[in-house]
Amino acid sequence: MQKVFLFIILCSAHVGFAQQFEYRIARQCDLVDSIEEQVYAYEKIGIKATGTAGFDSATVWLINRYTALGYSPIVDTFLVGEDTSYNVIVEKPGSEPNKWIIVGAHFDSVDEGPGANDNGSGVIATLEIARLIKDVDTKIGVRIVNFGAEENGLVGSRHYVANTLADETEEEIQLMINLDQIGGAITSNNSTIVCERDEDDSPFSNNEMSSRKTDTLGRLVYLYTTISPILGRAERSDYEPFEDVGLVVTGLYQNTPNPHYHNATDITANIDIPALKEVIKGAVAATLYFSRIQGVVGVEKLDRNQVNLLPLPAASHFSISTPIAGPLEVTLINSYGVEVLVQQTEGMEPISITHLASGAYTVKIYSEANSTYTLYKLIIAR
Ligand SMILES: [Zn+2]
Repeated sequence: MQKVFLFIILCSAHVGFAQQFEYRIARQCDLVDSIEEQVYAYEKIGIKATGTAGFDSATVWLINRYTALGYSPIVDTFLVGEDTSYNVIVEKPGSEPNKWIIVGAHFDSVDEGPGANDNGSGVIATLEIARLIKDVDTKIGVRIVNFGAEENGLVGSRHYVANTLADETEEEIQLMINLDQIGGAITSNNSTIVCERDEDDSPFSNNEMSSRKTDTLGRLVYLYTTISPILGRAERSDYEPFEDVGLVVTGLYQNTPNPHYHNATDITANIDIPALKEVIKGAVAATLYFSRIQGVVGVEKLDRNQVNLLPLPAASHFSISTPIAGPLEVTLINSYGVEVLVQQTEGMEPISITHLASGAYTVKIYSEANSTYTLYKLIIAR
């Protein structure tokens, strides 16, 4: 569906959080294939509107693709009026049972065209993610859901959240990442991509976490792609049913208006393929980051110059910029030698210090995986 955005440039991605690459993530992003052929394969199936033979063919095509990648797809069947539609689901479990992130992309189209961008672009992104995470160890499981009947009013995602998703006492959904129309028209400047966050107040409780995750998504786009992140509002796509039940969402969406939207000309030839490939790298990076990719990056002894506390001085929060892989234990000690904060953190996640007074603190950073221990000074000033 088409949208109007209020754009805010994500300045922090360029200034404050210039981050070390995690090579284990960058390596997987570099393996994103030439995706033109795949988008064209999706286009060739034809119109995939609910109730058409094309939609059924697309369902079979998708199942075959995931099966060839080594997955066992689950087909979630539902009705749209008198028509039958499907969600196609595959799972890559993490080491922590019952904790998941969901990566979603609808695979139906409108009646007017084959939907190479809306949403072949998102579908190919999910297939590439499935391929590139298959043999990577992650802490959190990755569940990919390709929704049917998005164009009928988010029917597939509503069905999924209401009827298929397990109760929250049985599993924890940490994040839903939505991928819808991420290609961009070939005639547009696609050097930016919108990172979308929950700005919807019903409920309000999930907005802050969505905002934080979306900031992180922007930084990941900045780190692992050649395009720049822009912040926007998540709306009118499969995010909505997840948002409405209080889950945390983020996602990607093209930045410029697309003249081929819901048109017979929404074909591969009108997509900016190199730009789409970069966006897919960002989606792969986000999936690996948010599912807590495991494994040692190979850093054993850390030079003090390789660790930065940002911002410095700090007021409300700080983040640790470091190439150390995996979770870190962070301890803050005040000038009297009292431990005032002990917290686990990972990657760039902000640590709140609003409860601490202004002053100088000693920071101990300890990484179990790499036996890395380092001492640092944090200045809190307000
Ligand atoms: Zn769409």
